[in-house]
Amino acid sequence: MVLPNFKQKAANLFDEMVAMRRDFHRHPELGFQETRTSRIVAEKLTDLGLEVQTGIGQTGVVGLLEGSKPGPTILMRFDMDALPILEENDADYASTNPGVMHACGHDGHTTMGLTIAKIMTQYQDQMAGTLKFMFQPAEEGLGGAFAMIAGGVLENPKPDVALAMHLWTPEPYGNVRVTEGPTMSSSSVFTITVQGRGGHGAAPHLAIDPILAAAQIVTALQSIVSRNVNPQDSVVVSIGQFDAGTTFNVIPDKAILKGTVRSYNEELHRQAYRRILEMAKNMATAFSCTATMETIAIVSAVVNAPEPTAVVREAAVDIMGEDRIVEHRTMASEDMGYVLEEIPGCYFFIGAGNEGQFSYPHHHPRFDFDERAMINGVAIMAEAAAKYVFNKG
Ligand SMILES: [Zn+2]
Ligand SMILES: [Zn+2]
Repeated sequence: MVLPNFKQKAANLFDEMVAMRRDFHRHPELGFQETRTSRIVAEKLTDLGLEVQTGIGQTGVVGLLEGSKPGPTILMRFDMDALPILEENDADYASTNPGVMHACGHDGHTTMGLTIAKIMTQYQDQMAGTLKFMFQPAEEGLGGAFAMIAGGVLENPKPDVALAMHLWTPEPYGNVRVTEGPTMSSSSVFTITVQGRGGHGAAPHLAIDPILAAAQIVTALQSIVSRNVNPQDSVVVSIGQFDAGTTFNVIPDKAILKGTVRSYNEELHRQAYRRILEMAKNMATAFSCTATMETIAIVSAVVNAPEPTAVVREAAVDIMGEDRIVEHRTMASEDMGYVLEEIPGCYFFIGAGNEGQFSYPHHHPRFDFDERAMINGVAIMAEAAAKYVFNKG
């Protein structure tokens, strides 16, 4: 069959999408606390006639839309959580939950997911296959995707293909980023504790200064990317937190460093870790301290499989035009990587920035996005899914 004009379908629902997105924006909820959001999602999916499961990965919701004939299962994933940020926008839809803000656009993602579900219910008779809507909690560093996988989201039925997208203000409205292979990096967090011996600031010779040792470690770690990694490869080692001391004239007992490693390649990731540990231990020893390291929250790289990426690209070209498709990789990370380790799929970015008006980066207290981008996201994902499940006969 000829595919419907999904862009027109999405545009017809624009006012409804804006109202829905602004409601979610006014009521942001942190990871694993998305009770209001997931209740609304479950209600809307139920009203649309989907088979709904709640409480998957705590606050996650799964909706199944089965076609009239058997066929592939296409998973579409949308994240719902907000961030611990005090919103500085004064829009009438600004956060009413002080200190919590939709500063990444997940309010838009949830809205797009519900809108795609609404559009696709009109075509249930023509569908050969199943659409599985995954509304995920806690994408922002808390591993909500992992919690939903543990809760069984990738079983009964097991998806054949997984799709996800992110509204993206660094990319102008009208563009779409679709990239085969690694598109977002793996990410992990490390904590180095440098143990010295506290003492009086006026008698440093009687103490063992962990701040001095930790400062050398911070500097030395920067040589990993420049001296140990092949210049053709991409690795990031960043220290984002340095905690030590309580006042000016006391040498503290210990210093704590927290940082992140990112890469597109698991082996490089492990190599970087080996070097961080070696350097931290040896540098600490050189300054008569000891260092221990802990690592947590390892998120896999987001790697797009060739076939689903080609399907998404085709849909994006159809809807936006060839000249609007951009290939780009980012060292940001995403727990969709866990899903794409299990299921071939594509994660893509919908340009949602607009110079002057929507130019703040994600996670900024003034972040906002061009709401028209939701039309593009809905249309592209709906068309990509339709290419799999619409009855070709
Ligand atoms: Zn984010
Ligand atoms: Zn995000």
